[in-house]
Amino acid sequence: MQVFKFGGASVKDAAGIKNIATVLNETGVTEKLVVISAMGKTTNAMEAIVNAYLNDKILLPEHLKATVDYHTQIASDLFTPGHTIFTSLKALFEELKGFLAWNKSPKYDFVYDQIVSYGELLSTTIVSAYLTDQGVRNTWLDARTILKTDNSYRDGRIDWDITQLAIKESVDPTALSITQGFIASDSNNFTTTLGREGSDYTGGIFAYCLNACSLTIWKDVPGVLNGDPRVFNNTELLHQIPYEEAIELAFYGASVIHPKTLQPLQRKEIPLYVKSFLNPKNPGTMVSAVASLVPEVPCYIVKKSQILISLSSLDFSFMVEDNIAEIFQLLALYKLKVDLIQNSAISFSLCVDNKFNGLEKLVNQLKGKFKVTVTPNVHLYTIRHFNQNALDNFQEGKEVLLKQATQNTVQLVTQN
Ligand code: ASP
Ligand code: MG
Repeated sequence: MQVFKFGGASVKDAAGIKNIATVLNETGVTEKLVVISAMGKTTNAMEAIVNAYLNDKILLPEHLKATVDYHTQIASDLFTPGHTIFTSLKALFEELKGFLAWNKSPKYDFVYDQIVSYGELLSTTIVSAYLTDQGVRNTWLDARTILKTDNSYRDGRIDWDITQLAIKESVDPTALSITQGFIASDSNNFTTTLGREGSDYTGGIFAYCLNACSLTIWKDVPGVLNGDPRVFNNTELLHQIPYEEAIELAFYGASVIHPKTLQPLQRKEIPLYVKSFLNPKNPGTMVSAVASLVPEVPCYIVKKSQILISLSSLDFSFMVEDNIAEIFQLLALYKLKVDLIQNSAISFSLCVDNKFNGLEKLVNQLKGKFKVTVTPNVHLYTIRHFNQNALDNFQEGKEVLLKQATQNTVQLVTQN
């Protein structure tokens, strides 16, 4: 059995949905489970509905209308007037409006999951009906009745035992099933989500539980490149990546593969393919238990908008265990994610990600004890498998504030 995942970009319009039918017809329409994200930028549009609902109700009707119109337009491009799809979509919108009317919870994360999940419910309903119309038999599955999590809304943690059982019971491995990425439910059957970009992870969960022979993530790029083409020139396609290397790349910030996706696959040695939905016959990239990266080229990763913090003591003490322990306690307390550290006898530098906005509080507290210099808006570059030539070319014209190298990996913090 194979598991496929199609992301938002592949279902952003009617042409994208037609293309899914093409890809399935070319690769076989049985023994397959297909995971689909919300269409285009729908998850962002759903977030706008959540914010309007909780903070600015006057804007709610216009945000709702935009989402209804977008999906209705795509359906009109794919189906004849009067088709049952229009009744199905209407039912989903009524359900969503029903929730908005009866909900009493002011809890953002809970409300978020109940609303945002409609993006995936809508997209899969449209794709499944379109395939049926094209003569491709398929079963639409509600992922919320299969994937079970705890009640950490917006960050649901999978209950593997219950999920495994539910998958065995509800998925026919000989047929074609269509289901939603990103969404699940808790023990009270309230909807949960797996975190932004979580559909890849859904693919990994199904592949693991079904003992699938592979997971394929279909994208608008030819596969995994050795750098983000929006940032780096002359990028190359990576043909083969060992699991460990893919996990490292994801850890340093490569955004092509959701990091949680890889570990379940690695456990059962299920290969992951990343392929272009425009050229389904091209081999793309394979992540598997291969020994080394092919081709063995340097890989470039950038994290923008990071913060460089440099500390030195005010009281002549060295930057050793006790000082460092205190600094790390504060970093954990204010949820700053540390990308890089470097220390000498009297100074300590950190490159951090201020995702949860704890920087100001951290700096105020550090100032009591250390001399603190903060350089905002720096870039952190990581080059895996670097060589001197690649490094020299890369550094040219850049103001390097900090540099750290191990045998395989060099990291540079730059001002630009
Ligand atoms: N639709 C969700 C998002 O945009 C999940 C996904 O696409 O992976 O984050
Ligand atoms: Mg995505």
